Formats: sequence, structure tokens, C-alpha cells
Amino acid sequence: MTDTTLTTPTDQVLDELHEWLVAQWDPELTVAAWWERLGLAGWSAPSLPTNAYGRGLSRTDAVQVATAIADFGALGAPNGLGLLLAAPTIAAHGTQAQIDRYVRAIVTGQESWCQLFSEPAAGSDLAGLQTRAVRDGDEWIVNGQKVWTSNGQKADLGMLLARTDPGVPKHQGITYFACPMVQPGIDIRPLREMTGRALFNEVFLTDARVPDDALIGEVNHGWAVANTTLANERAGLGSGGGSGAGGIAIPGTVGGDLGRRAGAFVAAPAGGSASGNGSSAARETTMLQAMRGGVGLFADLARRNGTATDPLIRQGLAQLYIWGELGRMNGLRLKSVKEAGGDIPGMPNISKLSMSHIMRLSRDLGMSIAGASGMLHAYDVEGREAIARATGEPSLPVLTELALLAQAPSIYGGTDQVQRNIIGERVLGLPKEPNNDRTTPFAELAKNV
Ligand SMILES: Cc1cc2nc3c(=O)[nH]c(=O)nc-3n(C[C@H](O)[C@H](O)[C@H](O)COP(=O)(O)OP(=O)(O)OC[C@H]3O[C@@H](n4cnc5c(N)ncnc54)[C@H](O)[C@@H]3O)c2cc1C
Repeated sequence: MTDTTLTTPTDQVLDELHEWLVAQWDPELTVAAWWERLGLAGWSAPSLPTNAYGRGLSRTDAVQVATAIADFGALGAPNGLGLLLAAPTIAAHGTQAQIDRYVRAIVTGQESWCQLFSEPAAGSDLAGLQTRAVRDGDEWIVNGQKVWTSNGQKADLGMLLARTDPGVPKHQGITYFACPMVQPGIDIRPLREMTGRALFNEVFLTDARVPDDALIGEVNHGWAVANTTLANERAGLGSGGGSGAGGIAIPGTVGGDLGRRAGAFVAAPAGGSASGNGSSAARETTMLQAMRGGVGLFADLARRNGTATDPLIRQGLAQLYIWGELGRMNGLRLKSVKEAGGDIPGMPNISKLSMSHIMRLSRDLGMSIAGASGMLHAYDVEGREAIARATGEPSLPVLTELALLAQAPSIYGGTDQVQRNIIGERVLGLPKEPNNDRTTPFAELAKNV
């Protein structure tokens, strides 16, 4: 008979964390000094192995740690693509020297990262990428174009995929680099999306230089390294992104908050007002909770504006709650299977598909509850405050932003269709689409452009 017991977060770990926070948290520290303490103690990315500044915890427990840090009232880990993607990838494929060079700077927030994967003609077909890297002594010279590079304008380093051998089939000639972003060969042009934010960018690489010791894994074996990044992207986004709530200070030397006071980034308890930019910290925290299927935001608004008695709204709230619970239980199930030495194939893909679905449910439910006022959206702080004052509804700007953002998760980190293809082919064993791209040299394949 199957054992259906679900393991719970290790109380011992949370007790140790609490004791540590009591002794170490000081809101007067700079962000840099606080993150140095948090990261070196293994609390920034506790799911990393112990030789990579982590504690070897499960992803589910790591989310509990992040939540406990936020609940304590301390600034959370340096969130971003460094912590979510680069650190676990380098921990898995890098040398110990690279782990000490790159992962240490990520968990302590000293450097921020972006992901230089997608190109104008290589998104879903990522292995069709055309950016070239050619060795030049102890450096590589890189030419090409990337696009949709989130936070590229604030990054110290980029996870770069480049073609190093066009004479072999496309998956075999790709190499993975840690590319310095601040250099003359890199031109970053922000793209503004419909949320009003310029989250992502076009990145043009013209004779950009990458040192040879920044090559992660082996030459021409970057596809396996990239798959580790993608698996972490799917699993991490599926669990609600990054290391959880607990602050929105920005890591890194380019646009980071390292010199600011750590206490300024801590969200105030519900109903209170936060110091510094805490109100926007509270907004980000609410967004993250909603992305994990939290119903609080929607239920509170429905109670306030009288729609909580509407049977369709109640049904929507129940659906959202169920999907949130399914995600949580799947996380616990995966944790207990992994603790027993097993795995559940396809779980990162399923988690990411669930998160996309939760976002669409949240969008539709939020707009149904908001009614006509859901048509009001602002792109800056003043506008958001004006809408909140005019409607008497402080959560409205979060709802509209969530609704506009809801289209993104079904695209980034691999589209919903691509996730389903992967589940079909790699988990269910369905036949692949017939093509010759695993046997024909990349240089001889038909190109998208
Ligand atoms: C908010 C956001 C942030 C992003 N951030 C980054 C980032 O930081 N770094 C980065 O490198 N990229 C980033 N991306 C890019 C993202 O990874 C790509 O947009 C995504 O992989 C899809 O690629 P594409 O846009 O080229 O669409 P295409 O690949 O052209 O796909 C177009 C449509 O065709 C469908 N399709 C394609 N191939 C198949 C197939 N074989 N079977 C079935 N359907 C198929 C797709 O599902 C989609 O609906 C981001 C995207 C978004 C929206």
C-alpha cells in the first residue's frame, strides 16, 4: 500500500533559523552587510548543497525558510536570476573555484545575473541559437543578439549560451559561459512591456569578451548545463519564483541597493506602513503570494465590495484555493519522494504549467471581483496611489498589475505548449516530432531567419 504521509518542514531547521535571526538581524546594517551574513550562513539559498553556500534542503523547505525570514521581519535573500538559476547551475556543473567565485557573490547579493538564452529566432527552439563564440587565446570573442533578457540592464553577469561548433548537430555545439555584462562589446536596450515595466531587454554582443575560466562545464557541452538552468527555472517559477518573499532590495553592483539600510526594505505587518519603500515591498509580497495561489487578496476584496456572496465568485475563490493547495501538496510529495532517493519525472514542467494556470485564474477572478474599476491601471507610484484613493480600494493596482502580468508565465521559461511537449516526449514516452536536427550539422540546417 502506498504511504501517503506528507513530510512537513523540518522544525529543527526553522528553530535554528529563528535563533540565528534573533542573534544576527540588525535593520541598521547595510543591505550588503546583511546579505553577507545571510548568505555565508547558508540561509540565502538553503536548497543549494553545502559546498555551494547552501544547506542541502528541499525546495519546499527552502520556501519555508524564506517565508520564516519574512515573518520574522528581516530582509530576505538577494532574489533574482542569480539565486534562482545561475547558482544551482554552477553548483551542479562548475568547479569548486567557480562556485567560490560566482555562487558566493550571488548568495551575498554582491553580483546580479541575467539569462542570455533567447534570440530573435531561437525561443522555443533554443538549441537553434546563432550567437557565436570563438576562442582567442585565454578569452572567447562573442557576436550575436539576445532578446527578452530580463533585468539585463541591472546585471553584472549573464548566463550566456553561444554556438562554439556549427559543424555538429545543434545540441552538441553549444557552450555555457558566465559573461561579464559591463563591457564595451555589450549594448543593452530596454523593452517596455504592457505592465509599464521595462523588465526585459535586447542585448547586442559585438566582439564581447569572456574569459576562458568563465566557461561552465565543458566546451560544446553547454546544452546539458542549460537544461539544469531550465529545470531550475521551471521548478523555481512553479513554486512561486525565487526564494520567496521577504524584501525587494536589488542585488548587484549595477543597479543594486547594496549601500542602503537593510531595514528600509522590510514590509510592515498587515495594516501598518513600512519604512523606506516598504509599501512597494508589501506589493511585491502580495504579488508573490497570489502567484502561489494565495486567495487572501481576492477574498478580502470580495468581502469589502460585496461580491463575496456571488456564487460564481465563490466558485472562483474555491478553484484558486484548490490549485494553490495542489501545488503545495505536489511540492511536499516531491520532497518526500526525493528524500527516499527517488524522483517524479516531469514535476518541474507540471509545476510551471500549474503556475501559469493559477495566474490566469487570478487574472479572471481579480477582474470579476473588481468589476468596472478593474479597467483603471497606473504605471507609476503616484498613479497607483491616485487610483487607490479614487476607488477607496488599495489592492486594486496589485490586481490590475497581476492581470497584465498573467500572460507572461505561460511564455517565459518555455511556453505551455513546450512544457506539454516535454511531458509527452520525455515522461510519457510519446514519439518525437520527426526531424533531422539531431543528426545534421547545425551549419546545414534550415534557419528560422
Ligand atoms: C516576461 C518574459 C521574460 C523573459 N525573460 C527571459 C530571459 O530573461 N532570458 C531569456 O533568454 N529569455 C527570456 N524570455 C523569453 C522566453 O523564454 C521566450 O519568449 C520563450 O521561450 C518563447 O520563445 P519565443 O518568444 O521565441 O516564441 P516562439 O518559440 O516563436 O513560439 C511562438 C508560439 O509557437 C509555439 N511553439 C513553438 N514551437 C512549438 C512546438 N515545437 N510545439 C508546439 N508549439 C510550439 C509556442 O508555444 C508559442 O505559442 C522571457 C519571456 C517573457 C515573456
